[in-house]
Amino acid sequence: MLYIVPTPIGNLEDITFRAINTLKKVDRILCEDTRHSKRLLDHYEIKKPLTSFHSHSNEKQIANIIEKLKSGENIALISDAGTPGISDPAWALVKALHEEKLEYTALPGPTAFVPALNLSGFPTDRFFFQGFLPLKKGRQTLLKNWKENLGDYTIVLYESPHRIEKTLGQLSDIFEPTRQIALVRELTKIHEECIRGSLEEITENKSNITLKGEFVVLIAPENFG
Ligand code: SAM
Repeated sequence: MLYIVPTPIGNLEDITFRAINTLKKVDRILCEDTRHSKRLLDHYEIKKPLTSFHSHSNEKQIANIIEKLKSGENIALISDAGTPGISDPAWALVKALHEEKLEYTALPGPTAFVPALNLSGFPTDRFFFQGFLPLKKGRQTLLKNWKENLGDYTIVLYESPHRIEKTLGQLSDIFEPTRQIALVRELTKIHEECIRGSLEEITENKSNITLKGEFVVLIAPENFG
C-alpha cells in the first residue's frame, strides 16, 4: 500500500495525527530531498529508510518502487512541503500504481493555496488553481486567456521569490490597473502576511513590500471590490 501524506508548509505543528501514525507504521518513506525531510521526521522521532523521489525520477525508479510495493512493503510518499501532487511530484507514480492496480490512498492535510484563498478575502466559491506559471514561453498567452475567460473566478498561482517582480509586471501588462490582487507570503511562519490592493497600488508600493519568502498570488474576480 502507498500512502500520500501531506506535511507542514512551515509550522511543524501543522500535521495530522493520522499522518504521523502513518509515517510511523510504514516500512519506507519516499521524499523529494531526504535531508530536508529528515528535519520533520527527527522532530517527530520517526526513523525509517528514506528513498528519494522527485520531479526528475524516471521510469526505472518508479518500477523499483512498484517492485517494493509488490513485495509487500508499505510506503509513504511525502514532499518538501504541503501535499504531494500539488505542484510537487506524485502524479507519475500514482498513474503507474493505477495502471498496475496497486493499492494507494491520499491523506488530507496542509497545502498552501487553501489558507491563501481564505486569507485573501476573495471569493472562495469558484477559483482556478494554476500552480506555477510556465517558466519561459507561454506566460503572456496564459494571462490573456485568463483575462478573457476567467473573469468570474479567483485565480490562484504559486510563485518563487525570484520571479515575483517579473510576474507582477506581467500581470500589470495584461490586467486592468484596478484589478484586486493579494500576495500571501510565508504562510504559517513568523512573517506570515497578506498584502492586498489593486495591481496599480501594489506595483507603485513595491519598494515598501517585502518580496522575500514563499508567495501565493491571487487575482480577484473582475467585478470584485
Ligand atoms: N505541495 C505544496 C502545496 O501543497 O501547497 C506546494 C509546493 S510548491 C513546490 C512550492 C510553492 O508553494 C511555493 O513557491 C509557494 O508558491 C507555495 N508555498 C509553499 N509553502 C508556502 C508558504 N508557507 N507560504 C506561501 N506560499 C507557500
